Amino acid sequence: MPGWAIAFAAALAALIFLHLHWRKKLAAARRTFQGEIERLADGHQQASLQLQMRQDAVFDSMTEGLLLLDEHDRIVLANRAFLDLFGITTDIRARTVIEAVRLHELSELVELLGTEPQVLDREIRFPSPGAERWAQVNGSAILNGKGARQGAILVFHDLTRLKKLERVREEFVANVSHELRTPLSLIKGYVETLLDGAKDNPEVCTKFLQTIARNADRLKLLIEDLLKISELESGRLEMNFQPVALRPAIQKVLDDLQARASAREVTLLNRAAEIVVDADTDRLEQVLGNLVDNAIKYGRQGGCVVVEAKAGEGDEVEISVQDDGPGIPPEALERVFERFYRVDKARSREQGGTGLGLSIVKHIVQSHGGKVWAKSEIGRGATFFFTLPPRAGGVQQPLSL
Ligand code: ADP
Repeated sequence: MPGWAIAFAAALAALIFLHLHWRKKLAAARRTFQGEIERLADGHQQASLQLQMRQDAVFDSMTEGLLLLDEHDRIVLANRAFLDLFGITTDIRARTVIEAVRLHELSELVELLGTEPQVLDREIRFPSPGAERWAQVNGSAILNGKGARQGAILVFHDLTRLKKLERVREEFVANVSHELRTPLSLIKGYVETLLDGAKDNPEVCTKFLQTIARNADRLKLLIEDLLKISELESGRLEMNFQPVALRPAIQKVLDDLQARASAREVTLLNRAAEIVVDADTDRLEQVLGNLVDNAIKYGRQGGCVVVEAKAGEGDEVEISVQDDGPGIPPEALERVFERFYRVDKARSREQGGTGLGLSIVKHIVQSHGGKVWAKSEIGRGATFFFTLPPRAGGVQQPLSL
């Protein structure tokens, strides 16, 4: 074989070898590269999943409701507080606001964000299972660098509790004004009649002055009760807890009310066991006084009022005041503890009631850590119960004074 042929064959072999070698290397490099790409993609997917989870956790931990809309006003994100506020249990992503919550005020607000960058402090009222709810909404359009609208974000602040409190306060103010107005206009009316000449007739004058004095007393009572309520509700109340022997404390209250009971021929009985509780003496006497006074006022003329104190369920002490009067209708049993609620308005006023006594009782018992309730059967009397927690240390000791 000529030399050039050998050289040619050797060059060809070298070329083939080089080709095969590089192919192998290239395949290995491609495999490594692909593996790397897959690894990166996996890592990226995991990282974005983690980011998503973290983002969801942050949004769900917010107390404000949050709604994120895309450029077509479809829901991209709704956090837990938003779903709870509107009682939504299904997946509302990709729906429009009106499809998700069926509230025109809200879809109008979203529409407004098409032309305005922000809509602030909008109050909306909406029905919800159980009761009506209120929310304050703040909305902002999301704009890109060129100012084009990319979507919107809405933040919801639940106002329901605040609105309810506001309503209770308004009702309270209206009730107070009404309660104050009645005796005041009576006083004014009688004074004017006296000034117009009735004062010259001594008999009429005395009668009118007595009515004026009665209504002034009523005003005084009302204002005293209102001050007590406001003191109890302020939360700034200082309770002076000390060991109180129940039987003598009850007896003191019964003795104080004996004259009122005698006027209605009512017998007062103390059936309390020898138990000592931790309580604020003055306030405990006020609770007992209000309950016994009611039992005398609303109980039967010539009837009987029994006060009991015994160990209740658990280690609580249960105290009850029972009368044998006409009783309280079932629908009013819980409501009698509301401010100004009376079963029989005329009867309460005629007895000098302010409609605040049981509300004061409830506050005081609750600030002792106890509870209060009433039981009654129409025509067979009413019984008011309240509990007091045991003495610190849990031991109720017989009185050894
Ligand atoms: P008031 O000043 O009117 O007595 P309370 O808050 O003490 O106000 O009581 C609220 C209402 O509950 C009373 O007006 C009365 O209608 C009813 N009530 C309270 N105690 C009794 C009772 N022992 N028997 C029947 N009704 C009662």
